[in-house]
Amino acid sequence: MATKTLEARFEHLSVNDENEPMQKGSAMLKPKQGSLTTAMSMTALGSSHLTSNQNRANLLKYALQTSKDTSTNPSTLTTTQTTSISTLPPSPSRKPAINRSSDETAMQRHSNSSTSATIYDQPTPPRAFHLGMFEIGKPLGKGKFGRVYLAKERSTNFICALKVLHKSELQQGKVEKQVRREIEIQSNLRHPNILRLYGHFHDSKRVFLILEFAGKGELYKLLRKENKFAEWKAAHYIAQMAAALKYLHKKHVMHRDIKPENILVGIHGEIKISDFGWSVHAPNNRRKTMCGTLDYLPPEMIKPGSADNFYNEKVDLWSLGVLTYEFLVGEAPFEDTPVMTQRRIARGEMTVPSFVSAEAKDLIQRLLVLDPEKRIPLDEVQRHPWIVKHCVQKGGERGSGKGTSS
Ligand code: AMP
Repeated sequence: MATKTLEARFEHLSVNDENEPMQKGSAMLKPKQGSLTTAMSMTALGSSHLTSNQNRANLLKYALQTSKDTSTNPSTLTTTQTTSISTLPPSPSRKPAINRSSDETAMQRHSNSSTSATIYDQPTPPRAFHLGMFEIGKPLGKGKFGRVYLAKERSTNFICALKVLHKSELQQGKVEKQVRREIEIQSNLRHPNILRLYGHFHDSKRVFLILEFAGKGELYKLLRKENKFAEWKAAHYIAQMAAALKYLHKKHVMHRDIKPENILVGIHGEIKISDFGWSVHAPNNRRKTMCGTLDYLPPEMIKPGSADNFYNEKVDLWSLGVLTYEFLVGEAPFEDTPVMTQRRIARGEMTVPSFVSAEAKDLIQRLLVLDPEKRIPLDEVQRHPWIVKHCVQKGGERGSGKGTSS
């Protein structure tokens, strides 16, 4: 079966999830929520409740993974409690495999497109993750619902970040659905500027998320340390953001919570968008959903109950404008008391300080447009003179993948 069809089928599974009712208004007061701070409803996480849909989803994920990524070097351990994909990519730090298991060979056989039909006829059950597979290292940080540790998968030496979420806290915070959605969406994304979610597993009390390790941590901290970024650096970050958002929107996913706290930075200074807790498949058909942090909310999302409160992926363009502003100025454009922030967003009232270049100011003004349809599209962001000036190297090559670690 063609990969495209598989993807389409899997996306459909996630769309169903979005249509489930969500807590209205809770997002407006959203504190910093840990990324992947939840989702799986406890019932859905429990192995006893693995529905045929979920099993099918796992099989699809597995098939998708193996049919797409022929270089994958899967890990091969089992548990009865897992619901995740069982492959980790080759790690730069990995030792040569001493004993490539027969399972791995079997999985590599699956990656051969000529045998893809076999996946459906006689599927090999995906191998599962469990805690014993990982050597736990130093804590990387703490979110609202969990802690994140540096971890190494023992058999492959694959370095990753392991996020530990306590089921009781997820239940108490009523964020199971959010985590579930986050897992479903994030585990299907493959882009250099989007944090990978390799898989997840759970025990009776905790949910574990196996994440790509972002060596330089939170972008928010880097921004606070530098106060504001130099224009070249901000342009590189924005170019990478545009590339990642373009990928997301092509897959009909809107992030809805773009802000520095939800962006991690890789070891080479490259951006990694994380925290898909508020992301959904676009267009959103539940008009009253409110989410995100006030400073970054677009005008079409701050009017609960109004007929205008219907939005699409263009919400992320507004947030990209807020982000560009904050990178260059050091504070968000509508920062004020909550009431005033809301009022100023609704009117698009902001001023760009004179130390910001004319090109950057132009891009900000083209993104922070009240009418979502009139915001500059991502293609044009990538071609904008400010981006071209800083990111396109001589010879016309785009430099958006380049890190900013100098
Ligand atoms: P979170 O719960 O996702 O907000 O994570 C809490 C903190 O852990 C973050 O603020 C980061 O500093 C750190 N962290 C989370 N995920 C990663 C990761 N994949 N790589 C490196 N650090 C991370």
